[in-house]
Amino acid sequence: MNDYQKEQAESLAIVRKYLASLSGEQKETLIGTMSGYFSFRKVVDSFQLQYFGNVCNLKCYQSRLSACCGRDGIITFFADMVINALVSSEQDLDKLDAAVSNNHDTGMKCVYLGKKGCLWKIKPIVCEMFLCDSAMKEVFEKFPEAALKWDHLKQQEKLFKWPDQPVLFDYLEEIFLIAGYRSPLMYLHNSPGLLRIKQHAGMLGGC
Ligand code: SF4
Repeated sequence: MNDYQKEQAESLAIVRKYLASLSGEQKETLIGTMSGYFSFRKVVDSFQLQYFGNVCNLKCYQSRLSACCGRDGIITFFADMVINALVSSEQDLDKLDAAVSNNHDTGMKCVYLGKKGCLWKIKPIVCEMFLCDSAMKEVFEKFPEAALKWDHLKQQEKLFKWPDQPVLFDYLEEIFLIAGYRSPLMYLHNSPGLLRIKQHAGMLGGC
């Protein structure tokens, strides 16, 4: 395993361990805190289908691939893992674990790319919000309103992960930190850039 895979595997193990310690009711409560995020993801999916379904090829959408899948080391936030784990079965998570734990060279493609597409149930936000330049050019020239909608969605994305205000991705990291777990993927608590944003917004404090 390379360093990226180790970080992914360890973080996934932490997420599974903590979630396994929760009761069904506690898990439901946690899922309830994500309802706004799930709605947002549905809107993004609809937008992409409406405007990019004909442009992006079969490989990109119908098989649940996105154009970023050809890159290795895709950024995953710790919260991405928590959200995905909460909507996945143990078998789904075993597949993710096997994918990041294998020692084969995956070449220049994402370790999470399976034969039938992405192995995540709810793929990482970085993947969800990725549109390649040529697709954007083609669609936005033809449908200028789509460019405005996309800008709006990018702004909405910040409401979940940009820590100049209380955001879901920060909250999810904090829950695990309070429970005694740490992960290098907790960027909202580790990244100097994001910590500076928190500091400027007066959001630092707590754990
Ligand atoms: S996590 Fe999934 S969607 Fe994202 S790059 Fe990897 S295979 Fe593609």
